[in-house]
Amino acid sequence: MLIAGNWKMNTDAATASELARDVLAAIGDAGDVQVALCPPFVHLGTVGSVVQGTPLRLGAQNMHSEEKGAFTGEISAPMLASVGCHYVILGHSERRQQYGETNALVNAKVRQALAHGLSPIVCVGESLSDRKAGRQNKVVGSQVLEALAGVRDVARLVIAYEPVWAIGTGRTATPQEADKMHAWIRSLLSRMWQGTVAKRVPLLYGGSMKPSNALDLLRQWDVDGGLIGGASLMADSFAAIVRAGQKAVATAF
Ligand code: PEP
Repeated sequence: MLIAGNWKMNTDAATASELARDVLAAIGDAGDVQVALCPPFVHLGTVGSVVQGTPLRLGAQNMHSEEKGAFTGEISAPMLASVGCHYVILGHSERRQQYGETNALVNAKVRQALAHGLSPIVCVGESLSDRKAGRQNKVVGSQVLEALAGVRDVARLVIAYEPVWAIGTGRTATPQEADKMHAWIRSLLSRMWQGTVAKRVPLLYGGSMKPSNALDLLRQWDVDGGLIGGASLMADSFAAIVRAGQKAVATAF
């Protein structure tokens, strides 16, 4: 079970440090639940120093597909690794929509992240119009297949299913809708990599997850965790979701 907080473009240096400390104090060692904080780039050092030596892990929200060079303003995988990042969120729908990120670019980033020992959290998800037209499996299917094309090293791979219509909207996929899509993604992974490896890739749900709906989502068979936006900005809410994750693990059959 993995619960990751995507802080997006929020917090300044002081509030980032405070939030990380508050989360650590509220969660401590979450046992079977791995917890990750993904602050903005400029706060990776600050938050990294808070979580260093604790069970909490550090993640970034994006990176460039190249290792180094003349890419003014960009951040590379080795840079993230060198400041202690374990995870990097890739292909978030906000980046796909607002910065034109394609599946091919996400694929290049995934390969780059893996080559530098990072664990990519690859985001996929359909728009409201896709869902209304019944195209969700097709859209998410091509996102998965194209973003992971040629990827062999799946040990560190994480996938987050985030229906675009549920991100920051207060509208959540029902636990059944989430589980159904996760099962579809799992079947695609099994097709790509035979055997047990596909079963071990954590599939996170993201989209307006909060303390009140977390347990129902996290206890679904193919839901292995959550990617949390808004609710990760309040230590209490985030900690409550982590506790829901612990409960889901404890009651899993
Ligand atoms: C996200 O952006 O990854 C996300 C899940 O946001 P929210 O929880 O705010 O819907």
